[in-house]
Amino acid sequence: MTSEAKLSKDDMTVCFILGGPGSGKGTQCAKLVQDFGFVHMSAGDLLREEQQRPGSEYGELIQNCIKEGKIVPSEVTITLLEKKIIESDSNRFLIDGFPRQLDQALAFEKEVIESTLIIYLECSEEVMLKRLLKRGETSGRIDDNKETILKRFKTFLELSYPVVEHFRKSGKVHTVPCEDSVEEVYARVKPIFAELFKQK
Ligand code: ADP
Ligand code: AMP
Repeated sequence: MTSEAKLSKDDMTVCFILGGPGSGKGTQCAKLVQDFGFVHMSAGDLLREEQQRPGSEYGELIQNCIKEGKIVPSEVTITLLEKKIIESDSNRFLIDGFPRQLDQALAFEKEVIESTLIIYLECSEEVMLKRLLKRGETSGRIDDNKETILKRFKTFLELSYPVVEHFRKSGKVHTVPCEDSVEEVYARVKPIFAELFKQK
């Protein structure tokens, strides 16, 4: 990471929000941003933005991975995240949908910054499928269809869930059941943050 020197890590906080596709990561992050003034970065949003950027050398690769529910190569995702962090004036970041594979977790925490807190939103595939199909009615996303959703579940189980297991050893993971309403889930998430961070 050539830009590592630009990151002043001492006063920086990074929280990872993890969970399967459709578990509600983005939804809960939006609420945390309002209450705690974090900057929210969604790995998926950053990748979609890069995919659509005219002239991107990664456009086709990203599109293919998203369509197939596969993990985009780590260098691409980490570089995009790191760039956004450097460009931001904030020093508090919520990163959702990252790390999604063990190599990302190890590389980011070694080369960029260690996370302070990790939220794992625990949700059944049945509920996630329902939410994603509903979202797919309006999202326009190429991966919010049943065929791709099932592939995303497989990727989550095989590659992303082991990241949660890896971090459990560190004691930083808070598992939050998230099949109830948005407000009920947030009533579980908010106190975890309130214990560590001042509200706005
Ligand atoms: P993720 O970021 O994990 O993919 P989203 O936050 O986009 O998930 O949520 C997926 C869909 O489910 C969205 O349409 C969102 O409005 C809806 N949703 C999120 N949380 C809940 C919840 N607790 N109850 C019902 N629907 C939810
Ligand atoms: P999401 O918006 O989080 O549902 O992610 C949509 C898709 O973007 C995923 O299915 C992956 O193809 C890709 N993606 C999102 N986050 C990552 C990540 N951390 N690493 C690699 N690919 C990712």
